[in-house]
Amino acid sequence: MEPDVLAFDFDGVICDGLIEYFQTAWRAYGRLFKPDSLEPPAGLAEQFYPLRPVIETGWEMPMLLRALIAGKTAEDIISNWPQMALPFLEETKLTQAEAAKVLDGERDHWIATDLDNWLAQHRFYPHMLSVLQASLDKRPTYIVSTKEGRFIQQLLKQSGVAMPPEKILGKEVKRPKYETLRLLVNSHMNNGRPPTLWFIEDRIKALQAVKQQSDLDHVELFLADWGYNLAPERQTAQEDNRIHLLSLDSVVQKFDIA
Ligand SMILES: [Mg+2]
Repeated sequence: MEPDVLAFDFDGVICDGLIEYFQTAWRAYGRLFKPDSLEPPAGLAEQFYPLRPVIETGWEMPMLLRALIAGKTAEDIISNWPQMALPFLEETKLTQAEAAKVLDGERDHWIATDLDNWLAQHRFYPHMLSVLQASLDKRPTYIVSTKEGRFIQQLLKQSGVAMPPEKILGKEVKRPKYETLRLLVNSHMNNGRPPTLWFIEDRIKALQAVKQQSDLDHVELFLADWGYNLAPERQTAQEDNRIHLLSLDSVVQKFDIA
């Protein structure tokens, strides 16, 4: 079976933004904790990357670095996050919103002063640009993301994928992903029947939120196992009768681009 309409999340599904994520977190860490050196300790990035899935909001990013520098282990962090981050936040004497603002400010400054360098910190997962292009050639295909659409547009353009801007629904639409999916369903009705819509996402919580919308119960949900998720979340997807666990190999087969 093939979908009538396909919606991809961007970060953690098509684009691997881990390097940018770490760099931005480190810049914010510098502002918040004033380390002696402006260079991150050796090995810190490699410790940070696999723990990326524990982070839900921006303020946690520099706190994760603080936890690692304080010697917390990955096991500890995985089982006690985000509570574990709170004492580190207290050290900064800032609220969550204020700490998030520092992080956003660092990213905005980087983008404003050296956009090319910022864009260059992004990678694409193997095959995913071909999968996206093949889907674009075949059916209405969307990106539903919490990253700003203009940056997605630019990253894709640099990589040779011509995606119409109106098909990129980023942070600027200011609504939850399930709401965007609902709009997509409504705009692709076929003789009063909803389209077959597939949604590929790497955060299980976003998929679970779609699951709670009873009018979206025909939307097929896929958890991208190559993205920012942990083994227990993949296990949950595997045991869920609604959510399908998807690997990079199977995505290639499913979309017949090999
Ligand atoms: Mg994602």
